[in-house]
Amino acid sequence: MTVKLPPLREVIARHGLSASKALGQNFLFDEQLLDRIAAIPGPLTGEHVYEVGPGPGGLTRALLRAGASVLAVERDRRCLPALAELSEAFPGQLRVIEGDALKIDPFAEIGAPFHIASNLPYNVGTALAVGWLGGDIWPPQWKSLTLMFQREVADRIVAAPASDAFGRLAILAQWRSKAAIAMPVHRSAFTPPPKVMSAVVHITPSAAPEGVKMSVLEKLTAAAFGKRRKMLRQSLKGVAGALEALEITGIAADRRPETVDINEWCALARCLS
Ligand code: SAM
Repeated sequence: MTVKLPPLREVIARHGLSASKALGQNFLFDEQLLDRIAAIPGPLTGEHVYEVGPGPGGLTRALLRAGASVLAVERDRRCLPALAELSEAFPGQLRVIEGDALKIDPFAEIGAPFHIASNLPYNVGTALAVGWLGGDIWPPQWKSLTLMFQREVADRIVAAPASDAFGRLAILAQWRSKAAIAMPVHRSAFTPPPKVMSAVVHITPSAAPEGVKMSVLEKLTAAAFGKRRKMLRQSLKGVAGALEALEITGIAADRRPETVDINEWCALARCLS
């Protein structure tokens, strides 16, 4: 659909949307880049998309152009008039809720499976992603996550075992999902530019390994990576049954947590679940 929209810079100026650091506001204006991000989940015609933090609506308009029905949650009420203009330009495709994404259940609002796409506010981005990845219901109600993070966080999400970045976030993002960096994004693409580089991560759910409880996996990895430099026999001492589980699974107790791969973490958790 070709809808003529004013340039985003003009929208910002007309609505007086000076970027607020406290709200993690770093806006994207390059429409080609935004269309490329909106293409990451795959074809969106007729699909539901949940967007956190639309701000002036750069990614939102790219998602709407791609044919999605968008539910957007924005905390900054200054952005609402700009988003109302987008709703008018794409009738029936955009619903905006003013509020805090940490307190909203998108499934209750949408009532059907949906994709999540967001240039996340840095201050709440990791907490939101941990919530989406750590849910009790699996497969989850979301079909894919397309999320902008600081590059360092993106690297921790997709990290492989034995790398410095491998830890709890990688295990959470990979034990029952596939996670990959879809696109690095230079800091100069944002207004204002943040201090660090960014990357868009694409995550899709896969089958959960049988017999593994999320809460047990969490307990194990929290204990082990909380004492990252220690051997497992030391760091897992406080987790009931963990040392026996090491023996049963044949995982040497003198290993350090980052050398244990995701299948091995799952085997340990299965033993204790
Ligand atoms: N999507 C826009 C873009 O790409 O240009 C803006 C992205 S900006 C990095 C993050 C947005 O999230 C801001 O508009 C900010 O007001 C909003 N935000 C911050 N905290 C939020 C929260 N807890 N719930 C919902 N929106 C939030």
